[in-house]
Amino acid sequence: MYLRPFDPWKNELCSCPPKYSLNPYTGCEHGCLYCYASSYIKDFFNCRLKLNLIEKLKKEIEKVPTNSLISLSNTSDPYPPKEKFLRITRKCLEIFKKHEIRILVITKSNIVCRDIDILKEMPSSVTITVTTLRYDKVLEPFAPSSLVRLKALESLSKRGIPTGLRLDPLIPLLNEREAEKILRLAKSAGVSHVTASTFKPRWDSWRRIENSFSHIAKKIRPLYFEEGIKKFNAWYLSETRRKELISELREICDSLSLSFSSCREGFLELNSAPSCDGSHLCIR
Ligand code: SF4
Repeated sequence: MYLRPFDPWKNELCSCPPKYSLNPYTGCEHGCLYCYASSYIKDFFNCRLKLNLIEKLKKEIEKVPTNSLISLSNTSDPYPPKEKFLRITRKCLEIFKKHEIRILVITKSNIVCRDIDILKEMPSSVTITVTTLRYDKVLEPFAPSSLVRLKALESLSKRGIPTGLRLDPLIPLLNEREAEKILRLAKSAGVSHVTASTFKPRWDSWRRIENSFSHIAKKIRPLYFEEGIKKFNAWYLSETRRKELISELREICDSLSLSFSSCREGFLELNSAPSCDGSHLCIR
Protein backbone atom coordinates (compact mmCIF):
# COMPACT_ATOMS: atom_id res chain seq x y z
CA MET A 1 0.00 0.00 0.00
CA TYR A 2 1.39 3.39 -0.95
CA LEU A 3 -1.51 5.35 0.54
CA ARG A 4 -1.64 4.61 4.27
CA PRO A 5 -3.21 5.98 7.42
CA PHE A 6 -0.62 8.31 8.93
CA ASP A 7 1.32 6.42 11.57
CA PRO A 8 3.30 8.38 14.19
CA TRP A 9 4.85 5.11 15.41
CA LYS A 10 3.18 5.26 18.81
CA ASN A 11 4.80 8.63 19.57
CA GLU A 12 2.43 9.92 22.25
CA LEU A 13 3.60 13.49 21.60
CA CYS A 14 2.08 13.43 18.12
CA SER A 15 -1.22 15.32 18.10
CA CYS A 16 -1.94 15.09 14.35
CA PRO A 17 -5.59 14.60 13.38
CA PRO A 18 -6.50 11.36 11.57
CA LYS A 19 -5.15 11.54 8.05
CA TYR A 20 -3.64 9.48 5.27
CA SER A 21 -0.07 9.84 4.15
CA LEU A 22 1.48 9.47 0.72
CA ASN A 23 5.12 9.83 -0.25
CA PRO A 24 5.17 9.98 -4.06
CA TYR A 25 8.93 9.42 -3.96
CA THR A 26 11.13 7.21 -1.81
CA GLY A 27 14.03 9.21 -0.42
CA CYS A 28 14.77 12.88 -0.99
CA GLU A 29 17.31 14.90 -2.94
CA HIS A 30 17.30 17.94 -0.68
CA GLY A 31 19.96 16.51 1.61
CA CYS A 32 18.99 18.38 4.79
CA LEU A 33 21.57 17.75 7.50
CA TYR A 34 18.90 17.40 10.18
CA CYS A 35 16.70 14.97 8.21
CA TYR A 36 15.19 12.27 10.45
CA ALA A 37 13.97 9.96 7.69
CA SER A 38 17.55 9.11 6.69
CA SER A 39 17.93 7.15 9.93
CA TYR A 40 15.30 4.56 8.98
CA ILE A 41 15.08 4.59 5.17
CA LYS A 42 17.97 3.00 3.36
CA ASP A 43 19.91 5.08 0.81
CA PHE A 44 17.61 7.97 1.69
CA PHE A 45 19.32 10.77 -0.21
CA ASN A 46 18.92 8.84 -3.43
CA CYS A 47 15.44 9.94 -4.45
CA ARG A 48 13.70 7.30 -6.51
CA LEU A 49 10.37 6.51 -8.10
CA LYS A 50 7.89 4.08 -6.58
CA LEU A 51 7.03 1.13 -8.76
CA ASN A 52 3.68 1.60 -10.58
CA LEU A 53 2.67 4.38 -8.19
CA ILE A 54 -0.03 5.95 -10.33
CA GLU A 55 -1.65 2.65 -11.31
CA LYS A 56 -1.72 1.50 -7.68
CA LEU A 57 -2.92 4.85 -6.37
CA LYS A 58 -5.91 4.77 -8.71
CA LYS A 59 -7.00 1.54 -7.01
CA GLU A 60 -6.08 2.50 -3.44
CA ILE A 61 -7.97 5.79 -3.57
CA GLU A 62 -11.23 3.90 -4.10
CA LYS A 63 -11.03 2.71 -0.49
CA VAL A 64 -10.51 6.22 0.94
CA PRO A 65 -13.69 8.08 1.99
CA THR A 66 -14.47 11.36 0.21
CA ASN A 67 -13.26 14.46 2.11
CA SER A 68 -10.49 12.52 3.87
CA LEU A 69 -7.25 14.37 4.47
CA ILE A 70 -4.07 13.24 2.74
CA SER A 71 -0.71 14.63 3.76
CA LEU A 72 1.92 14.92 1.03
CA SER A 73 4.51 14.08 2.35
CA ASN A 74 5.63 13.04 5.78
CA THR A 75 8.88 11.21 5.14
CA SER A 76 10.10 12.77 1.90
CA ASP A 77 9.49 15.91 -0.14
CA PRO A 78 6.75 15.63 -2.79
CA TYR A 79 8.58 18.20 -4.93
CA PRO A 80 12.18 17.05 -5.38
CA PRO A 81 14.01 18.61 -8.38
CA LYS A 82 13.11 15.65 -10.62
CA GLU A 83 9.38 16.29 -10.06
CA LYS A 84 9.79 19.22 -12.45
CA PHE A 85 9.99 16.86 -15.41
CA LEU A 86 8.49 13.62 -14.01
CA ARG A 87 5.25 15.28 -12.81
CA ILE A 88 4.41 12.33 -10.56
CA THR A 89 3.10 14.44 -7.66
CA ARG A 90 0.98 16.39 -10.12
CA LYS A 91 -0.57 13.15 -11.35
CA CYS A 92 -1.34 12.17 -7.73
CA LEU A 93 -3.06 15.53 -7.18
CA GLU A 94 -5.18 14.97 -10.28
CA ILE A 95 -6.36 11.65 -8.82
CA PHE A 96 -7.11 13.23 -5.44
CA LYS A 97 -9.03 16.07 -7.03
CA LYS A 98 -11.28 13.62 -8.83
CA HIS A 99 -12.02 11.84 -5.54
CA GLU A 100 -12.75 15.02 -3.55
CA ILE A 101 -9.91 14.60 -1.11
CA ARG A 102 -8.46 17.34 1.13
CA ILE A 103 -4.75 17.85 0.59
CA LEU A 104 -2.04 19.11 2.91
CA VAL A 105 1.22 19.67 1.01
CA ILE A 106 4.44 19.92 3.02
CA THR A 107 7.48 20.88 0.96
CA LYS A 108 10.67 22.92 0.69
CA SER A 109 10.29 23.53 -3.02
CA ASN A 110 8.82 26.26 -5.16
CA ILE A 111 7.94 23.62 -7.78
CA VAL A 112 4.64 23.36 -5.89
CA CYS A 113 3.64 26.69 -7.52
CA ARG A 114 3.38 24.89 -10.86
CA ASP A 115 0.38 23.00 -9.42
CA ILE A 116 -1.58 26.00 -8.13
CA ASP A 117 -4.15 25.42 -10.87
CA ILE A 118 -5.08 22.01 -9.41
CA LEU A 119 -4.67 22.97 -5.75
CA LYS A 120 -7.01 25.91 -6.25
CA GLU A 121 -9.76 23.55 -7.30
CA MET A 122 -9.66 21.35 -4.21
CA PRO A 123 -9.62 21.86 -0.42
CA SER A 124 -5.88 22.22 0.03
CA SER A 125 -3.19 24.08 1.84
CA VAL A 126 0.57 24.28 1.38
CA THR A 127 3.04 24.39 4.22
CA ILE A 128 6.60 25.33 3.29
CA THR A 129 9.52 24.76 5.63
CA VAL A 130 11.94 27.63 6.24
CA THR A 131 14.47 27.16 9.03
CA THR A 132 17.22 29.67 8.30
CA LEU A 133 18.06 32.59 6.04
CA ARG A 134 21.74 32.49 6.90
CA TYR A 135 22.73 28.84 6.64
CA ASP A 136 20.22 27.36 4.18
CA LYS A 137 22.85 26.44 1.61
CA VAL A 138 24.69 24.38 4.24
CA LEU A 139 21.78 23.07 6.28
CA GLU A 140 19.53 22.19 3.31
CA PRO A 141 22.13 22.03 0.52
CA PHE A 142 20.02 20.89 -2.42
CA ALA A 143 16.70 22.52 -1.58
CA PRO A 144 15.67 25.84 -3.12
CA SER A 145 16.95 28.78 -1.06
CA SER A 146 14.87 30.11 1.82
CA LEU A 147 14.18 33.31 -0.13
CA VAL A 148 12.85 31.31 -3.07
CA ARG A 149 10.62 29.37 -0.63
CA LEU A 150 9.28 32.60 0.88
CA LYS A 151 8.56 33.86 -2.64
CA ALA A 152 6.67 30.63 -3.31
CA LEU A 153 4.58 31.19 -0.18
CA GLU A 154 3.77 34.66 -1.46
CA SER A 155 2.72 33.36 -4.90
CA LEU A 156 0.54 30.65 -3.35
CA SER A 157 -1.10 33.06 -0.92
CA LYS A 158 -1.75 35.61 -3.65
CA ARG A 159 -3.45 32.93 -5.73
CA GLY A 160 -5.76 32.01 -2.86
CA ILE A 161 -4.06 28.87 -1.49
CA PRO A 162 -4.01 28.88 2.34
CA THR A 163 -0.39 28.68 3.43
CA GLY A 164 1.56 27.70 6.51
CA LEU A 165 5.16 28.03 7.54
CA ARG A 166 6.97 25.11 9.07
CA LEU A 167 9.77 26.36 11.32
CA ASP A 168 11.18 22.92 11.85
CA PRO A 169 13.63 22.18 13.26
CA LEU A 170 14.61 24.95 15.58
CA ILE A 171 18.21 24.26 16.54
CA PRO A 172 19.53 26.05 19.64
CA LEU A 173 22.28 28.60 18.83
CA LEU A 174 22.10 27.75 15.14
CA ASN A 175 18.84 29.24 13.89
CA GLU A 176 16.91 30.26 17.02
CA ARG A 177 17.88 33.92 16.68
CA GLU A 178 16.61 34.01 13.10
CA ALA A 179 13.15 32.82 14.04
CA GLU A 180 11.55 36.23 14.49
CA LYS A 181 12.83 37.50 11.14
CA ILE A 182 11.59 34.37 9.36
CA LEU A 183 8.17 34.71 10.99
CA ARG A 184 7.91 38.37 9.96
CA LEU A 185 8.83 37.51 6.36
CA ALA A 186 6.32 34.66 6.38
CA LYS A 187 3.61 37.00 7.59
CA SER A 188 4.43 39.45 4.79
CA ALA A 189 4.25 36.54 2.35
CA GLY A 190 0.63 35.91 3.38
CA VAL A 191 1.13 32.91 5.67
CA SER A 192 -1.60 32.44 8.28
CA HIS A 193 -0.32 29.51 10.35
CA VAL A 194 3.01 28.39 11.83
CA THR A 195 4.04 24.91 12.98
CA ALA A 196 7.31 24.72 14.90
CA SER A 197 9.40 21.94 16.36
CA THR A 198 12.76 21.70 18.08
CA PHE A 199 15.62 19.62 16.65
CA LYS A 200 15.52 16.03 17.89
CA PRO A 201 18.70 14.47 16.57
CA ARG A 202 19.34 10.80 15.91
CA TRP A 203 22.92 9.71 15.56
CA ASP A 204 23.21 10.21 11.81
CA SER A 205 21.65 13.69 11.79
CA TRP A 206 23.74 14.67 14.80
CA ARG A 207 26.93 13.58 12.99
CA ARG A 208 26.02 15.65 9.94
CA ILE A 209 25.36 18.74 12.05
CA GLU A 210 28.60 18.16 13.94
CA ASN A 211 30.59 17.87 10.71
CA SER A 212 29.23 21.08 9.21
CA PHE A 213 28.71 23.22 12.32
CA SER A 214 31.41 21.95 14.67
CA HIS A 215 31.63 25.22 16.66
CA ILE A 216 27.87 25.23 17.37
CA ALA A 217 27.64 21.47 17.90
CA LYS A 218 30.27 21.69 20.61
CA LYS A 219 28.09 24.14 22.53
CA ILE A 220 24.78 22.36 22.09
CA ARG A 221 26.09 18.82 22.67
CA PRO A 222 25.55 19.04 26.48
CA LEU A 223 22.06 20.49 25.98
CA TYR A 224 21.09 17.23 24.30
CA PHE A 225 23.34 14.52 25.66
CA GLU A 226 23.71 15.69 29.26
CA GLU A 227 20.68 17.84 30.09
CA GLY A 228 18.38 16.34 27.46
CA ILE A 229 16.51 13.06 27.30
CA LYS A 230 16.30 10.18 24.82
CA LYS A 231 12.78 9.42 23.57
CA PHE A 232 11.57 7.45 20.57
CA ASN A 233 15.13 6.86 19.30
CA ALA A 234 15.91 10.59 19.24
CA TRP A 235 17.48 13.07 21.62
CA TYR A 236 15.28 15.82 23.00
CA LEU A 237 16.34 19.03 24.73
CA SER A 238 15.15 19.25 28.33
CA GLU A 239 11.47 20.03 28.71
CA THR A 240 12.32 23.41 30.24
CA ARG A 241 14.51 24.43 27.31
CA ARG A 242 11.96 23.22 24.75
CA LYS A 243 9.15 25.02 26.49
CA GLU A 244 11.19 28.23 26.52
CA LEU A 245 11.85 28.03 22.78
CA ILE A 246 8.27 27.13 21.88
CA SER A 247 6.77 29.78 24.18
CA GLU A 248 8.94 32.48 22.60
CA LEU A 249 7.70 31.50 19.15
CA ARG A 250 4.09 31.49 20.31
CA GLU A 251 4.53 35.05 21.61
CA ILE A 252 6.01 36.26 18.34
CA CYS A 253 3.21 34.57 16.39
CA ASP A 254 0.60 36.18 18.65
CA SER A 255 2.14 39.58 18.03
CA LEU A 256 1.94 38.97 14.28
CA SER A 257 -1.58 37.48 14.40
CA LEU A 258 -0.36 34.15 13.12
CA SER A 259 -1.94 30.97 14.48
CA PHE A 260 0.61 28.71 16.09
CA SER A 261 1.19 25.10 17.03
CA SER A 262 4.15 22.94 17.89
CA CYS A 263 4.89 19.46 16.59
CA ARG A 264 5.73 16.56 18.91
CA GLU A 265 6.64 18.72 21.88
CA GLY A 266 3.76 17.89 24.23
CA PHE A 267 2.79 21.52 24.87
CA LEU A 268 -0.76 21.52 23.56
CA GLU A 269 -1.56 24.43 25.86
CA LEU A 270 0.77 26.60 23.76
CA ASN A 271 -1.14 25.94 20.54
CA SER A 272 -3.46 28.63 19.27
CA ALA A 273 -4.56 26.72 16.16
CA PRO A 274 -7.19 24.00 15.86
CA SER A 275 -4.65 21.59 14.34
CA CYS A 276 -0.94 21.09 14.90
CA ASP A 277 -0.10 20.33 11.26
CA GLY A 278 -2.05 23.08 9.52
CA SER A 279 -4.75 20.70 8.28
CA HIS A 280 -7.44 23.10 9.51
CA LEU A 281 -6.49 25.25 6.50
CA CYS A 282 -7.55 22.57 4.03
CA ILE A 283 -11.10 23.84 3.54
CA ARG A 284 -12.88 25.71 0.78
S1 SF4 B 1 13.31 17.99 2.52
FE1 SF4 B 1 12.56 16.79 4.27
S2 SF4 B 1 12.71 14.66 3.60
FE2 SF4 B 1 14.00 15.87 2.23
S3 SF4 B 1 16.06 15.75 3.07
FE3 SF4 B 1 15.06 17.62 3.86
S4 SF4 B 1 14.15 17.01 5.83
FE4 SF4 B 1 14.62 15.10 4.69
